[in-house]
Amino acid sequence: MIIVMQAGAPEEQVQEVIRRVSELGYHPHIIRGTQRTVVGAVGDERGKTKLQSLEALPGVENVVPILQPFKLASREVRPQRTVVKVGDVEIGADRLALMAGPCSVESEAQLLDSAYAVKAAGATILRGGAFKPRTSPYSFQGLGEQGLKLLAKAREATGLRIVTEVLNPQDVPLVARYADILQIGARNMQNFALLNAVGEARKPVLLKRGMSATIQELLMSAEYILSHENYDVILCERGIRTFETATRFTLDLNAVPVLRKLTHLPVIVDPSHGTGYADFVAAMARAAVAAGADGLMIEVHPKPEEALSDGVQSLTPARFAELTRQLALIAKAVGRSL
Ligand code: PEP
Ligand code: MN
Repeated sequence: MIIVMQAGAPEEQVQEVIRRVSELGYHPHIIRGTQRTVVGAVGDERGKTKLQSLEALPGVENVVPILQPFKLASREVRPQRTVVKVGDVEIGADRLALMAGPCSVESEAQLLDSAYAVKAAGATILRGGAFKPRTSPYSFQGLGEQGLKLLAKAREATGLRIVTEVLNPQDVPLVARYADILQIGARNMQNFALLNAVGEARKPVLLKRGMSATIQELLMSAEYILSHENYDVILCERGIRTFETATRFTLDLNAVPVLRKLTHLPVIVDPSHGTGYADFVAAMARAAVAAGADGLMIEVHPKPEEALSDGVQSLTPARFAELTRQLALIAKAVGRSL
C-alpha cells in the first residue's frame, strides 16, 4: 500500500505514519518527491485493510494499493525517474551514461589502454570483469582481486568510475571495496542470496536481465535489492534467448520503453552481449539510444583478436570512437546528450 501525505505535511505527521506502519508489521519506505512525501508500506498483502485505516491520520491524503507485484520498483510508488549518482556521474539523467571497457581485466597494459581510449571517446564509466561467469570451467575465470586492484588503478589514472561483476555473496564486501557499481550478471539475476547481499552493500547495483527472464522477473529481482533500502539500482537489457541463431542473443529493445513505463529505475542496454558480434554492435547501440535507453554498456578491447573473453563482440577503440560520434547525434534527436 502507498500512504500519500498531503502536500506540505509536517515531518511529525510523516514520522507518525512511519511509526504506525511499523506497528502494523509492515516495512516503511519513505519516498520524498518534489511535491509530496509518500510512505510505501511493504509486506504481507493480507493485512491491507489495517493499513487503509491510516487514512484517518492527520496529514494523510489517501491510502492506495500498489497494483504491481514489484512495489518499490514501480512507478506507482515513485512517479519521478530515479537518477543514480556515482560520484559526479549520473545515470538516468538527460546525459547518457556510457560504460565501456574490456569483457575481462587481463593485464595492466590492456586495462589502461582500454580506459584511456574509452575515456577519450566519451565514456564516463569503465567496465571490466575481475570475476568472470564462464560457461566452461576451463575458460579464463578472471584475475580475481588482482583484477580489482587494476581497476582501482585505472580509476586513479583516468577518473573513470568502475563497474565490475560480483559472482557470489561472500565476495560482495571485497568487490564493494574497489568498485563504484556492483554488476549482477545475467546468469545471477535470480540468485536471491546475492541480490540480498548487494542490497545490504551501500553501493549502486547494475542488474542485468537474465537471458531467459521476463521483464516482470527482472523487476522482481530489482525489488529484492530495493527492499534492503538500496535504491540505487540500474537495469540492463543484454539480450534474451530465442530460436534465432544468427546472433548470440536477441537484444530485446522492447524492454526499454516497457521498463520506462513500469519503473522509475534507469535502464541501460548492452548491445555487445545482445548481438555477440562486433559488426552488429553499433547499429543496436544507436537503436537503443533512439528507443530511450539511459545509457549503454559496450565491450571495447585494444586488440579484440587477443582477448581472453568475448573478443568477437568487442569493438576496437577506433570503432568505439566512431560510434560515440554517431550516438551524440541520435542523443540530440531524442532530447538527450552524450
Ligand atoms: C559481462 O558483462 O561481461 C557479462 C558476463 O554479461 P552477462 O552477464 O550479460 O552475460
Ligand atoms: Mn563479456
